[in-house]
Amino acid sequence: ATLLNYVEPDIGKFKRPKEQIDEIQKRLDEFKLSDEILKQVMDILEAEIEKGLNRSTNSEADLKMLPTYVCQLPTGKESNDILALDLGGSNFRVLYIRLRENEQPIIVNKVFIVSESIMKGTGEKLFSHIANCLYLFMKNHNLDLNRTYPLGFTFSFPCRQLGLSKAMLLRWTKGFSCSDVVGEDIVATLQRYIDARGDIKVKVCVLINDTVGTLMSTAYYDRKTSIGLILGTGTNVCYIENIDRIGTLDPFDDLDQKQMLVNTEWGAFGENGSIDFIRSRYDDEIDKTSINIGKQIFEKMVSGMYLGELVRLMILELIDRELIFVEEMKKNAYRHALFTKGSFYTKYLNEIESDSNTKFTRTKRILKELAGIENLSNEDCAVVKCICMAVTKRAGKLVAAGLAVILKRMNRAECTIAVDGSLFRYHPRLQAVLEKTLTNLVSSLNKFKIALSTDGSGRGAAVVAAVAAENDPIFK
Ligand code: BGC
Ligand code: MG
Repeated sequence: ATLLNYVEPDIGKFKRPKEQIDEIQKRLDEFKLSDEILKQVMDILEAEIEKGLNRSTNSEADLKMLPTYVCQLPTGKESNDILALDLGGSNFRVLYIRLRENEQPIIVNKVFIVSESIMKGTGEKLFSHIANCLYLFMKNHNLDLNRTYPLGFTFSFPCRQLGLSKAMLLRWTKGFSCSDVVGEDIVATLQRYIDARGDIKVKVCVLINDTVGTLMSTAYYDRKTSIGLILGTGTNVCYIENIDRIGTLDPFDDLDQKQMLVNTEWGAFGENGSIDFIRSRYDDEIDKTSINIGKQIFEKMVSGMYLGELVRLMILELIDRELIFVEEMKKNAYRHALFTKGSFYTKYLNEIESDSNTKFTRTKRILKELAGIENLSNEDCAVVKCICMAVTKRAGKLVAAGLAVILKRMNRAECTIAVDGSLFRYHPRLQAVLEKTLTNLVSSLNKFKIALSTDGSGRGAAVVAAVAAENDPIFK
């Protein structure tokens, strides 16, 4: 991506009292992370990883370091017709994937809506909705309703797995909070709802996290892939760990395997207060008004569900101090959409950060659309742009610090990092910050490459399900 336009406005040159400029700068600086601080964060994260992998300390650990039971990268020889579901990001999708050796996979997919009332309703409503979407998809795509299809479920929430097809939900994250599901086996639950319909034959073979899907789908083409990163609504990472370092794994019968993908669930980093020293009052506010107070602390600093809100909270702070939008607020303060939680979308960040510092056309359009603010001054636009840039930069640096710990831990000469997620996809500057910071933090002996995974979740689940289905007599 070209980063020519991502130039930070120089607020030092503003025609306003120096105290005001200093006040604004002081607040922007709260989001700065020096290399030294990042190294500290890395040390803490490394210790948390060890804690999560160790059987005797796992229960207190923030990072659950969950075994995934995925022990092998795809060979590219996987072949079958697979259904897949992808739940937990910005979209819910049903997919049909035709895998054939030496052929490009054929993928058909459809996005279905999961409304807020389903995301926060009962588990029963959620699972019957999923089964119904699956049925509609199969019918509309003329799939053979008398044939039993294998299904891979990409379920982007933390699960304690006992195998590829046994996965207990530990907690909901992001915008989900369905009742009566935590603690349940998600595979068995979905299977029950599918079977209860009686009109489709589908066997849920595997459940994987989206990070695993991302890693696997990239490894399908690039065998150096050993990290899967999601930067979307939420954030998380999985990587290839040596089985003898996964202390929480019950005696594992497949002794041939030396490695397994581990789902770190790093979104939960910081729940024990370990990174409070880098959190701002805005982070605190985000947490306090969230549906999962005290949880997913790291996720709340870096992922798409929260970055826009962080910007909004900082804008509000500057409004309160009469450092921004001063004339505007006198006019119609009470009507401003800006005062509504969630009104500042994360997708605005990239638009504003890439805006021109002389015209601020996009920034002006967004604030007009969002809050009816007209004739915004360039200086105010510059402040908004600086806020967005500060929030993005902090997120990119934190993710880089996390990746650096994992690269160091794996200590490979070369590693491809597969990345997926809406935030990463649509935010080139975040990618650039991440890559630059990571280059600074890791040794040149651990070369890395960042690869955007296309359609990671769906294809990844299909590849894992294809292998599982091969060993299942029901599909013979
Ligand atoms: C979930 C992870 C998931 C990540 C990205 C987090 O909130 O806990 O399981 O991988 O979001 O979707
Ligand atoms: Mg996704």
